Amino acid sequence: MTVQTNEQLQDELDALNAQITKQGSAVRELKKAGDADAVAEAVAKLQALKINAAEMGKSLVSDEPEFNRKAFDELVLRKMFVVPSFEIHGGVKGLFDLGPPACSLKAAMIDLWRKHFVLAESMLEMECTCLTPEAVLKTSGHVDRFTDLMVKDPQTAECFRADKLLEDAIDSLLEANPTMPVEEREDHLRIQRQADAFSPTELDELLIKYDCKGPSGEAYTPSFPFNLMFKTSIGPEGTSVGYLRPETAQGLFVNYRRLLDLNAGKMPFAAAQIGLGFRNEIAPRSGLLRVREFCMGEIEHFVNPKDKSHPNFKSVTDKELVLFGRDDQLGSGKTKTIACGEAVESGLINNETLAYFMARTQLYMEKIGMDPQRLRFRQHLATEMAHYAADCWDLEIKSSYGWQECVGHADRACYDLEVHSRATKTSMVATQKVDPPQEMEVAKLKFDRKLLGQAFKGDQRVVSGMLESLAESWTDFEPIATKLENDGKTTVEGFEITKEMMTWTKQKKTVHEIKFTPSVIEPSFGMGRILYSLLEHSFYQRESDEQRVVMRFTPQVAPEKCAVLPISSNPECNEIVDDIARDLMDSDLATRVDKSTAAIGRRYSRSDELGIPFAVTVDFDTLNDGTVTLRERDSTVQVRLPKNDINYLLFQIVHSRMTWEDVMKKYPVVSTGDDTEVAAEDAVTVVEQTSRGAFRRPAQPK
Ligand code: AMP
Repeated sequence: MTVQTNEQLQDELDALNAQITKQGSAVRELKKAGDADAVAEAVAKLQALKINAAEMGKSLVSDEPEFNRKAFDELVLRKMFVVPSFEIHGGVKGLFDLGPPACSLKAAMIDLWRKHFVLAESMLEMECTCLTPEAVLKTSGHVDRFTDLMVKDPQTAECFRADKLLEDAIDSLLEANPTMPVEEREDHLRIQRQADAFSPTELDELLIKYDCKGPSGEAYTPSFPFNLMFKTSIGPEGTSVGYLRPETAQGLFVNYRRLLDLNAGKMPFAAAQIGLGFRNEIAPRSGLLRVREFCMGEIEHFVNPKDKSHPNFKSVTDKELVLFGRDDQLGSGKTKTIACGEAVESGLINNETLAYFMARTQLYMEKIGMDPQRLRFRQHLATEMAHYAADCWDLEIKSSYGWQECVGHADRACYDLEVHSRATKTSMVATQKVDPPQEMEVAKLKFDRKLLGQAFKGDQRVVSGMLESLAESWTDFEPIATKLENDGKTTVEGFEITKEMMTWTKQKKTVHEIKFTPSVIEPSFGMGRILYSLLEHSFYQRESDEQRVVMRFTPQVAPEKCAVLPISSNPECNEIVDDIARDLMDSDLATRVDKSTAAIGRRYSRSDELGIPFAVTVDFDTLNDGTVTLRERDSTVQVRLPKNDINYLLFQIVHSRMTWEDVMKKYPVVSTGDDTEVAAEDAVTVVEQTSRGAFRRPAQPK
């Protein structure tokens, strides 16, 4: 019998996962074609592949440290990183509050995001409103396309996702009838597999067929599309429909013209926004990964569709990225590590600007302390992409919930500006100088304004503007001309143009400037997902004792930078502690003073749990010679140094101008051992002091 190595097993699993991706894509295509039998067959094959993969996964030995969810969840809750919102009222699914350490962590992440993207690239930052009028989201497509089918209980008005009810009903039926003939069983399963592909009428019929009843015992109402946006009305009359924005991007698109003016008409340029997005997720789950209100950071980079080069691309050409391209997802199932420049040259990433932002995102993730081994960029399959998109790559972060999209990078072509332009009859074009002027082949158009007016009424100017912008290059206009010559009509951006509406001639022209509707390249960051992933990547248990848990936040993002502890309650020691802490705070270095009577080891442990990278201890020697110890959290190494050096050192480290290694070279190391041992009786005291949730002890009898 041949025994497979872990590596061989991993290769096989990767290949199997590729087949799953391919099959999933085939299922989506078949569903679109509406062939129920073919869908059922393809879904059965997909499920068999998934079962195989799950079995194979069990035999794999993972070289990643095992994640202790119980210890992690306990810490997150006990130290109030994240808590359920409205907990004492029973909570609300998909809503979470950030407690003090997570607020600081998020503020630091956002601060770095603004410096890394907005300030470094002179982006135009905006803060647009969350409340958005219906017209905007109707134009963007959200009002019509952000929907799932829902039914209501007619008595209680409780809402349910219709396809899930059908799936559950079939499960219950099969469970209650274990001896059902195989063929009959298969029929039910076939219906179950297609639950999310039925039309509202089909679903309604099936809910009746499977005798689905609401909690009140009555049949459900007919299904209706449920929009994931939170709807409201703006103003006291209640007549103006509005929504809480599902993304921040639309605010930037509708301000495009003003932003371009502010940028003195120069292209390319980027606008950015950080703020809340709201999605009324039907099944919120996986902690902070799928919630109903979350912070997003979005960049809209406006660029000439024919020139998607980026002025700073050179700075990232050598940056290596882990790429999971479309072909690899369907083929080898393996990622490739490729330098950014090479990925663009080979055509794997569509253009420089898209690749540039992917590299910048990778650098940002590394800056905030995300584990680079758990980052990859996954390209959207052709079946996943919107019809207008040129290329899309998701930065996925691996956590205990698996690989999760945390930052989308999409080349959205001209879609967004064009739809708003058409809906508002506002020109959204940009002009770019051609330097030196070039002789180009163009189309000279002459419109029959009367016919255009009759056909397009108020949209007349939008249509003629669009055609004129295409006519600026004969190469762009030629396919339209050919179609009009051959068929007498053609459709451009949804408008039907007939031959009679215009005449054209091909001409040579010296072009000094060109006009175009910019393409948009959009990195879209889910800050909540990033924050949650960072908490997981930062969490570990000390090898010497699993009870001692640590958050390894980098000094740059750590919620607090330093703990200051007196070794005794001696008033002179306390005074020095206060002086050092005040000094650090004055330099914007958030500091925690712990004067409690717990053993020093326990106090170090507490500061480790909050991810505080350094601890200064004031002891009896300090009173004699003015020196203190400075402890680094992960190594627990301590050096001795004059207390007056602390401020400068920490400031330099937090601003990435110095490292702990530099500090160790400069000052004598006085302790290298694990210093968080806690005496048994001291540990009990601490447990009582902090008792909440997981550490709750039964009350002592009086
Ligand atoms: P999307 O516009 O759907 O591509 O979302 C942009 C980013 O928002 C994603 O990359 C996620 O990081 C984040 N995101 C989307 N939906 C949720 C959600 N329900 N909860 C938390 N983050 C989300």
